[in-house]
Amino acid sequence: MTDQPADGQRPSNLFYLASLRRPLVDRADGIYIWDQTGRRFIDGSSGAMVVNIGHGNRTVIEAMKRQMDRVTFAYRLHFENEPAEELARQLAAHMPEGLDRMFFVSGGSEAVESCIKLARQWAVATNQPQRWKVVTRFPSYHGGTIGSLSVTGDDALVESFRPLLRAMPTVPAPVTWRDRDNFSPEERGVRYADMLEERILEEGPETVLAFIMEPIGGAATAALVAPDSYYSRIREICDRFGVLLIHDEVMSGAGRSGRFLGGDHWDCLPDIVAMSKGIGSGYAPLGAMAASSRLVQPLLDAGGFQHGHTYAGNPLACAAGLAVLGEMDRLHLIDNAAAMGDALMGELLELRKRFPFIADVRGKGLLIGAEMVADPETLAPIEPGKKAYQRLLDHAYARGLIIYARRVKGGLDGDNFIVAPPMVVTREQVDEIVSILGDSLEALARDLDL
Ligand code: PLP
Repeated sequence: MTDQPADGQRPSNLFYLASLRRPLVDRADGIYIWDQTGRRFIDGSSGAMVVNIGHGNRTVIEAMKRQMDRVTFAYRLHFENEPAEELARQLAAHMPEGLDRMFFVSGGSEAVESCIKLARQWAVATNQPQRWKVVTRFPSYHGGTIGSLSVTGDDALVESFRPLLRAMPTVPAPVTWRDRDNFSPEERGVRYADMLEERILEEGPETVLAFIMEPIGGAATAALVAPDSYYSRIREICDRFGVLLIHDEVMSGAGRSGRFLGGDHWDCLPDIVAMSKGIGSGYAPLGAMAASSRLVQPLLDAGGFQHGHTYAGNPLACAAGLAVLGEMDRLHLIDNAAAMGDALMGELLELRKRFPFIADVRGKGLLIGAEMVADPETLAPIEPGKKAYQRLLDHAYARGLIIYARRVKGGLDGDNFIVAPPMVVTREQVDEIVSILGDSLEALARDLDL
């Protein structure tokens, strides 16, 4: 999603989003990653909020080696496998009660596709075939496949594919920090949630299948957190109209927020959850969908879930996921994410005092985002041509720190960044990150006269 700093030009047969070339990676350990020239970087965004348990975990690597020595692939229509069975059991034990049926895939987009397909098949199996619309938030990011893109609230990403996909109805993301009104945060939370009700009524409640949202925002909204009242009201509205609530926890899940799921911070149980990134932690491509038996059983009774990918429930990927979960528990990484997240949040709030162009800092645990503006009074955005987010990335990168930064277009218009180091980060390392980030923000302020 994000342009990363250029580092020389090499011819290549690969192609990516941007024509910028990156250095060749060499090795990684804990929160650090080295390129082939021997330069060390702090992986302050865990890649793209992926490597939750940190790089180079020996226990995970050894578990994967043991699995590789036994079997790396067995097709799910021929064999079941123990790592997948055990991972499903252990993931269910980490999830809120009721979300106990698992389906494995290889990434976040596949997990979101699975949620949409499960919801739709549930509607068909329960005699509600007229329900097909999945309401989503604007802006939002839910993946790059055609189905997951159809629920992605980002015009720039969707535009060229419109004839192939059916754009779904949207409601505004709860960007309450921008609101200049006399309402309390809790009142604002309810007002944003009520926009879902209005949308469902406009669309025709009998046609609405589901609402998809990230409990803690990711790529599109930089760790956006709504007031508490938002979450319970959303659940209430979904219940009232028989609309399924899908939580996309691809980025916010797997412990990063200081709880196993981002949604665990609120009293709002989803019907279906998409997960990826942190559950494989970069050791293997792994994604998962969790749902309640209430949803899954009617489909199974009607002949089964019509969905699946060749690598679904792959034994090697699941063995990695199992070891990742084991390490998360053994090293108490979720507690550490909560404690280090508090420390990091405190430090970023200090940076905000030093740099008033940082208009908002928010997030949970080690998923913390910040918004940068040209004018903290009016919240006017920095001109896009100034590429503030890219400059900040470059300044940090030049100082050996990798963060995640983007400019959001459409409605919200703004430069934001996310700091999300691996959950093994120590207090000293938090200070190191904040010190480099402070220097980088200072350089940015000088560049743009902020
Ligand atoms: N959903 C969310 C919230 C994400 O952040 C992402 C990726 O950034 C995806 C879905 C798509 O995941 P993937 O890139 O693994 O397909």
